[in-house]
Amino acid sequence: MEGAKPKPRFVIQSSEAESMSQSSGLTLAQLLPSLVSSAQSLARPPISKFPVAAVGIGASGRVFIGVNIEFPGLPFHHTIHAEQFLLTNLALNEETRLESFAVSAAPCGHCRQFLQEIRDAGDIQVLITSQKEAQFTPLSNFLSHPFGPHDLLPKSTPLLLEPHHNALSISLPNNDNNATMKLRVAALEAANASHAPYSGSPSGVALLDSFGNVFKGSYVESAAYNPSLGPLQAALVAFVAGCGGGYEEVVAAVLVEKEGAVIKQEHTVRLLLQSISPHCHLKAFLATSLDHHH
Ligand SMILES: [Zn+2]
Repeated sequence: MEGAKPKPRFVIQSSEAESMSQSSGLTLAQLLPSLVSSAQSLARPPISKFPVAAVGIGASGRVFIGVNIEFPGLPFHHTIHAEQFLLTNLALNEETRLESFAVSAAPCGHCRQFLQEIRDAGDIQVLITSQKEAQFTPLSNFLSHPFGPHDLLPKSTPLLLEPHHNALSISLPNNDNNATMKLRVAALEAANASHAPYSGSPSGVALLDSFGNVFKGSYVESAAYNPSLGPLQAALVAFVAGCGGGYEEVVAAVLVEKEGAVIKQEHTVRLLLQSISPHCHLKAFLATSLDHHH
């Protein structure tokens, strides 16, 4: 299709990554820095005009891309950092571990903290492509006295990228049309996969675009609270990675959050959606927990 814009790619399958590494004579990790500058063109930073890309390898050998996303008209805390996008992208694709990543600028303090939600985060190898003689260095060198999940949670609590089963349920009326039903099921799945061990308030968002595609994202908490990533931000990562269109293509959204939870997402989700896609219709559902231990 001449002239058609190619769909952006945010995941490179392991077979393709392997053949890229073989034909270049480099290891997969050595190859990562060369992928960063083209990935920067996928960023959406209308305020800073400072595109950031992070390109990482998962345990499966797949390569994942993350970019920064900013939202004009809203406070900065709505922003998605490239490393947050990267981790959300891994989670969406059920990748269990981030081995290493190359990033166009030094990871900010907020991201060094956010990355602590992964087990053994200090071992992740990081390379900053804008530095002279850049080389991979463990994350523990970037944040040497980390505050993290181990300070607040029992060791057995699942961390980010580990399976979560939050045992939430909502009653699904059977008079829904197909798209609405799909959206509710996806939002519930996202809430059930949410990493919210600090508040016990898991949530998830599913988005429907004008072509009938569904994108879902799970809320992710940080031990330091503020770097947490909202469920709509996570769903927007899936949307940007999945279709790359404009936000006005998002026509309907469903939020599922836990009934009686100490954290509430609805107002914030509504605010951001209203700002990026004013005609999008949001429905919020409160889920009950089937887990009687809580
Ligand atoms: Zn950051």
